[in-house]
Amino acid sequence: MTANRSSVNPSRTIWLGAKAAQVQRAIAQGLWGPFDWVLTPTRQAARAIGVQAQSLDQLLKRLRLDGNLAPMLVRQRALRSAVAKVWPDVEAGQYANTIAPVIREMLHNGWSLAMAAQEPTLSDRARRLVIIAQAYLQALQLSGDQKLGDQKLDDQQLSDQSTQRRAVDRPADRLDAAQIYGQAAQAIAQGAADPLALGLWGYGYLAPDAIALIDALAGPGSCLWWPNDPALHRLLPAWEQRGWTVRSASELSEEPEATTPPTECPALQQAIAFPTLEDEVRWVLAKIKQHLHQGVPANQMVLIARDEQRYGPKLLEVAQEFEVPVRLLYGVPLTQTRVGHWVQCLLEAAQQQWAYEPAVQLLRHPIGRDRLEGQWETARRLRPDRPKAWVQAGIDLADLAPPAQSARRKATREQWVSWVQDCARSLEIRSGAQHWPSEANALSSLNHHLIELARPSHETLTLASFAQELRELLSLISVPRHPGRGGVELHNPASLIGAQYRYGFALGLVEGWWPAPIAPDLALDWFDRRALTQAGFPMAGTAELADQERLHNSAAFATIQEQLVFSYPQWHGQQPQSPSALLRNPQIRPTEPEPVPDVSPLASWQRFLTRADRPAALAQDPLGPALERAWRMECQRLRSGPPDRPEDLAFHGFLGSLAAMDPDRHTFSASQITDLGQCPFKYFARRVLRLQEPQETEADLPRNSKGNLYHRVLQKLGEQQRDRQAPVFSDPEQRLAALETWLTEAATELQLPRHLTWTAQRQELLAQLQWLILQDSFLPAESTILHCEVPFEGEWLGLKVKGMIDRVDQSPDGLVLIDYKTGKAEGAKVKDQTGQANLDVQLLVYASAAAQLAPETPVAKAYYYSLREAKPSPSQQPTRDDPEVGALVQRLRHHLAAGEYPVDPDREYKACQFCEASSACRCVQDG
Ligand code: SF4
Repeated sequence: MTANRSSVNPSRTIWLGAKAAQVQRAIAQGLWGPFDWVLTPTRQAARAIGVQAQSLDQLLKRLRLDGNLAPMLVRQRALRSAVAKVWPDVEAGQYANTIAPVIREMLHNGWSLAMAAQEPTLSDRARRLVIIAQAYLQALQLSGDQKLGDQKLDDQQLSDQSTQRRAVDRPADRLDAAQIYGQAAQAIAQGAADPLALGLWGYGYLAPDAIALIDALAGPGSCLWWPNDPALHRLLPAWEQRGWTVRSASELSEEPEATTPPTECPALQQAIAFPTLEDEVRWVLAKIKQHLHQGVPANQMVLIARDEQRYGPKLLEVAQEFEVPVRLLYGVPLTQTRVGHWVQCLLEAAQQQWAYEPAVQLLRHPIGRDRLEGQWETARRLRPDRPKAWVQAGIDLADLAPPAQSARRKATREQWVSWVQDCARSLEIRSGAQHWPSEANALSSLNHHLIELARPSHETLTLASFAQELRELLSLISVPRHPGRGGVELHNPASLIGAQYRYGFALGLVEGWWPAPIAPDLALDWFDRRALTQAGFPMAGTAELADQERLHNSAAFATIQEQLVFSYPQWHGQQPQSPSALLRNPQIRPTEPEPVPDVSPLASWQRFLTRADRPAALAQDPLGPALERAWRMECQRLRSGPPDRPEDLAFHGFLGSLAAMDPDRHTFSASQITDLGQCPFKYFARRVLRLQEPQETEADLPRNSKGNLYHRVLQKLGEQQRDRQAPVFSDPEQRLAALETWLTEAATELQLPRHLTWTAQRQELLAQLQWLILQDSFLPAESTILHCEVPFEGEWLGLKVKGMIDRVDQSPDGLVLIDYKTGKAEGAKVKDQTGQANLDVQLLVYASAAAQLAPETPVAKAYYYSLREAKPSPSQQPTRDDPEVGALVQRLRHHLAAGEYPVDPDREYKACQFCEASSACRCVQDG
């Protein structure tokens, strides 16, 4: 039986706490209806109430009220130009990225920017943001006006027919996305559309512009079904002032015509701890596979993570191993896709004039056709490094040539964009991208945005400027991580409001992960936000954000009907983790993970290894003892943590007397101190076992050869030319002749001419050296070179040390110690007591040695010097009295004395990034 519509829903009503089943039945029976539109923000919310997914944005589009949204690049440029105009002292691009969310929030909150700019109580920072926002909107407007003029040109040139049509139909773009709702509400108020009977389900917190729009669009009979949550209660008076009636959904059961809510048992809620994030993900996906085998549809299960990016990669990896279909719909920037990487390779190859390595990366990119197929051997042998050399090697790259060949020449935007599109065609990127739904999405998104990059089409720019804009565009565009079809979806709590599932798996319930801490706002601090709100310009404060977090969590957990499993890893990286405060709820029962069947060959193998009867099965085997020992080690490693039996300690680097050394008799070099301080196994592998990575090919210059060569040449220079008055600094001819001679001598000493690439690289090295020694920072005017490659031997905090200082200068303040670096001007850092790679001690060792070599001369400073960038490092080093330095020395002594060399890098695995021992090391970075 259907209730009289006016008795249930006399005008416009907010129903608090309605259940999906109530709403679904009421819609089906026409209890409140008929509605013109039932709107939901997500597909999952629409599915829960059995309606077709239609969002507020889609309705605006159908009513042609979606405004003239400025393209993403235009918005980015407009904001950057507004920043540059209002605050020229900051780096415009970076600051624009920082303030973009605040500007968006101001626009959503429907401020009058003109009134805010006049508000006397605003701080300077808040006022500047308001002025930037005004300048931004003006710049957008201007871009819209300019675009009208440019449109005709572009439309003739763009190849995409549908885009042409759209571009001609629509007037100039000029709105930010955050203005659309406000503009639409105004247009409706002016009669652009008639009010409609709307049903709205699945909406949580609504910004002021969304409230204004819904109020303008919703006619008599409209319903907003909202969660009954304290976070939303404080918004109710504003709705009531607009004429809405607020009612509780519990009233519905008292009305005879209303449907009785289904009997609902609360879902079973369990909390399970796992040793690591990988264990957690493996168990959850195995459980999901079990449910799938039992006939539970994939869309009746959901994975929930507060930070989807933390869990996405591991979920995808394990899901592929288990053959469990999953969908990861969170956005990742195009730079993290294969298509985005291909574009970056193209730009790199073109900017480096088709140098060998970037060109090979491009031509053999996994997403395109292998352009070197059948010619790879030739390319490796000849290593062409410029366009002519590629032609001489029989590999024609003419179709990939950029429209402007030299760095200073310019081409039009349209020519640059056509070049990228032509290269994609030549390398068959489209057919490669079809193999992965996410890549196909990425390519189509890239093509769409390239059209905007081509405007204004007549503007000319160099390759460097175009590359910068395109790289920026790649970081702005985001695409779903793993869209696919069907499969169990991963969601964050906010996107689950209004949905309904039978089984839910909430991952990562760790303190500090979930609930997410409220991050400080760098653009507008909490004090400024409160002051603005008090002055009548609302901005969210910490209380509102905490309320929203609570709302999202409770609404997301309420979507699960049968079983909700909360899980968390006890360890992540090398840090123990505490369970989240959300698990203190008495309804959540801590449990052990129930056994799940093996779901992949790898999982079966792991289970086999941990069976208690495994060694017994091997007892009769002649290899039994050795196998049992190996088996025990595998079990132990799967469990992680220290070994149970003393005889297994050796497998963990505890070698005892086998590798113990007397720390008082051992002589360290600075780099040995660094290796041992970074990771004891790294030191053991490199310095005790003397393991080295194999050289790649004889054709290549050996590793570090460039650095050694620079050192030798600069040593020869320093020995003969000691100050800036010397001929090599003042006379170009003498400089060239001297550097040529030293380079040839040094290369002969290092036996470099036997390498095939030497001749090709010689000119480049010579040019770099000529440029380097002319830089003021290389030899400051007040300094003279005293010594180069100075050997030292001495004592540092009780350790015997020896080594070589690259250069010692005499300055008016004393000795200056310089260590050359071929890369950045910074030294390798060792672990501090918290396990972070924060401590740089190399210069301290040098300074201590210099003080012992020449006690009468003070050491003025010590720094690293980048030979590539001609830049010294800031001379801020820990002092020898720093307790961290003392603790490091004690640790080094202990490792040697006890013979302990475990695999133990810093927490962020920085030591592993360039580790020659990595191929001999079992280290696996967690998560
Ligand atoms: S890869 Fe990392 S953990 Fe392994 S030896 Fe090197 S620094 Fe240590």
